[in-house]
Amino acid sequence: MSKAAYHTEILKVDPASIAFTGDSLSISDPQTETSLKRAATIISSSSEVVAFPTETVYGLGGNAFDDDSVRNIYRAKNRPADNPLISHISSVSQVKQFFGIDLPKIYEPLVESFWPGPLTILLPITTDSKLSKLTTAGQDTVAVRLPSHPVARALIHLSNVPIAAPSANASTRPSPTLAEHVYHDLNGKIPLILDGGSARVGVESTVVDGISNPPMLLRPGGVSLEQIKSVGGDAWKDVRVAKRVADANEPVKTPGMKYKHYSPTARVILVEKEEAMLNYIASHDLSRDKIALLTTQSFTGSQFPGIVESMGSSKEEVSRNLFKCLRDMDERRVDYIFVEAVDETDQGLAIMNRLKKAASETI
Ligand code: AMP
Ligand code: MG
Repeated sequence: MSKAAYHTEILKVDPASIAFTGDSLSISDPQTETSLKRAATIISSSSEVVAFPTETVYGLGGNAFDDDSVRNIYRAKNRPADNPLISHISSVSQVKQFFGIDLPKIYEPLVESFWPGPLTILLPITTDSKLSKLTTAGQDTVAVRLPSHPVARALIHLSNVPIAAPSANASTRPSPTLAEHVYHDLNGKIPLILDGGSARVGVESTVVDGISNPPMLLRPGGVSLEQIKSVGGDAWKDVRVAKRVADANEPVKTPGMKYKHYSPTARVILVEKEEAMLNYIASHDLSRDKIALLTTQSFTGSQFPGIVESMGSSKEEVSRNLFKCLRDMDERRVDYIFVEAVDETDQGLAIMNRLKKAASETI
């Protein structure tokens, strides 16, 4: 059992000082090396958990083989125990080493193109698997990812165990893209945060299931549906996209679908047309409320009676800034956040997946 409270330490690490040549690791900055080794020792030799940067969002990591570690992840986040975690590895050869199977052929073209990177694949669990059943929440598959962020990859390499890691936010909150977001949500609940700067991609990994027939895209993320179809070959050309939300009692392929997600305290309203938003504001009495507009590709915001901020104009920028902008508006005590929708092509599918879950209505 873990203690009731921790002093949460934040250690700065320098991603640029970390290099992999093939699968071998070198770290040129001594302080980064010391901090990474400390974090790796926590993961491999205790049941405590550590927050660390990845290229998608910050993760909250523990030893995927150890029940107590995984229990501590769920507890720190207050995450429902039936929503399984992704296990992170630092080289393709660890698929065999940790999960006891060869990489299924169907994933070869995807792994070739997108690993290390924001793609998660489902693998079957063997009968003699060492994985904690809490990691997979009773599913007969394990979700596996090889991240590209040097800090994440080095931490896994040094720990020499698969690192089970969901996003390092309190459950239901927007995912963290900065160490300070993690601190805001988990201060006192975990011993250590590695601060490696801001997450580049900004939304979570794409989760694909190539074991089912036809293959499924379970969660859109940093790798787009178009990219999967274009490099995946015949096996992936008819990949099915899982629906976005599940009903309360429905058994689902990807349990994350059924939970409230990505929500700031403010009410989020997703907006397709700028004019409809202005009509909404005129017809609702929001005069005592603090309101904000987050724009993407085309709204001007010129007639908006509140804070106006751009999340960027390319979909890459919008992905990167999305969660941070939602959190910033909470810090500014905004009551309503209007957010400009994007079209659902390319990175737009992942952006809209997050926004639809965060929003209480769409106008
Ligand atoms: P997060 O850890 O917050 O990025 O969420 C991980 C996502 O992967 C959630 O939507 C999970 O439901 C999904 N996931 C993890 N493991 C599995 C699995 N074995 N089968 C299906 N979906 C999974
Ligand atoms: Mg999450």
